[in-house]
Amino acid sequence: MARYGSIEGGGTKFVCAVGTGPDDLAATITYPTSSPDETLGRAVAFFDEHGPLDAIGIATFGPLDLDPASAEYGRVRRTPKPGWSGADVVGAFSAAFDVPIGFDTDVNGAALGEGRWGAGRGLGTFIYITVGTGIGGGGLVDGEPMHGLIHPEMGHLRLPRHPGDPFAGRCPFHGDCLEGVASGPAIEERWGVRAEELGSNTERAVEFEAFSLGYAMANLVLALSPERIIIGGGVMNLPGLLTETRLRMLEALGGYVDAPALDGGAETFLVAPALGTRSGIAGGFVLAERAVAGLRR
Ligand code: ZN
Repeated sequence: MARYGSIEGGGTKFVCAVGTGPDDLAATITYPTSSPDETLGRAVAFFDEHGPLDAIGIATFGPLDLDPASAEYGRVRRTPKPGWSGADVVGAFSAAFDVPIGFDTDVNGAALGEGRWGAGRGLGTFIYITVGTGIGGGGLVDGEPMHGLIHPEMGHLRLPRHPGDPFAGRCPFHGDCLEGVASGPAIEERWGVRAEELGSNTERAVEFEAFSLGYAMANLVLALSPERIIIGGGVMNLPGLLTETRLRMLEALGGYVDAPALDGGAETFLVAPALGTRSGIAGGFVLAERAVAGLRR
């Protein structure tokens, strides 16, 4: 029986697991993301302790170099996250373990996980978005993770702004891109409190949030024609936000896209992850399996 290592690498925490899938876990560990050496070193030590492994799958925050032909394959690309630009993620594991290693973005990984065990089962082309500390999106096209120029960066879409919201946005590159106005830290900066402490401002915050997310979902529908969009992340726990985002998405589409999946308020089209917070770690296992089959991403 195979035994895989899976990593879900986030900007604030790393989750590592050993097993074959989200319902077959031999061991897991979660710890805060610090320097690359320390963060990746802890994962190597964890896998060493719980091995031997047949393969490792890494789904992590980026931007990443995912081009197997590139000399920089396996590394984090230029990022504002201190210390992580150029960090050799795959190298940290290939130096320690002589096993196949799969590597992709956290969101492509989560899409693979949801595709195998969750809300993307049976679908070839769908999107996975997370709205939390950052906003990221990935997905599958005909069953394969989306790559291209680099990989999708759906969190940085440029969108119309809610006319009543003067917040300038906090993205260091774009100011008021989607992540700049709708991530957890953007909500915190906009309202002066964390999303779960909004109190009487909740309704207004949800209105602004759904406005931006609704436009983003509509644009993704128009650009990529996904069969479904799975939207997760801590911010989506705001009461009423998912329903409101569906409404704003349909409003932004203006009735143009004629598809049965959008009928009935798009309730089966724009959905929460079926695996809850386990989509990413599930995806790591799929990446490990793909690596055994010779796929490095
Ligand atoms: Zn941006």
